[in-house]
Amino acid sequence: MARLLFTAREFGSLADPVNPAAIENLETLIGKPVQLMQQTHGNNLFEVKSFENIKQNTDSLITSNKDLALAVRVADCIPLLLYSASLIAAVHVGRRGLINEVAAKTVAKMRTLGAIEISGVAGPHICGDCYEVGDDMAEQIHKSHPTTGGKKGHLNLFAGLKDQIKEVNLENVNICTKENNQYFSYRNSAEPGRQVGVISL
Ligand SMILES: [Zn+2]
Repeated sequence: MARLLFTAREFGSLADPVNPAAIENLETLIGKPVQLMQQTHGNNLFEVKSFENIKQNTDSLITSNKDLALAVRVADCIPLLLYSASLIAAVHVGRRGLINEVAAKTVAKMRTLGAIEISGVAGPHICGDCYEVGDDMAEQIHKSHPTTGGKKGHLNLFAGLKDQIKEVNLENVNICTKENNQYFSYRNSAEPGRQVGVISL
């Protein structure tokens, strides 16, 4: 059974450059080395065989290794944690990640590695009422991803994600980072802090 954890502001920031003390605290809490990635809003996946330094240019980590944990760092984007019987993944899903289908790509990769039933949890992220992107961009994305629609000029990231990975049993913790100041929110304050979603087998 996978173990999942989402930190809040109180835990401290895991933003770059990563504070070694914050990593140490996280690893003490989890009891395993935590694999991080340097996220770029792209759709590169990385299958982690054994722990290594921060993986560059990666927005999705996948592993079957029980001796490490995977982490995704966010402020308003969705920290998506996926798990099956023998595989886990940590995925960074923002607006660009929705469009480049990093989550769907991760699910497909998990299937090729043997995952049958896949579940997931979307951690704290900006909600559809708060994520304003402007009318033009919203309209364009609503056309290609109709479920992201709702409030004019806004995007519902979670609804778009859910639609994209329909076969995953997906839960939403339903905490909006912009509305809840216990969480770092780039949109709310343009601060550099990042909370983290962590998963391990
Ligand atoms: Zn909100």
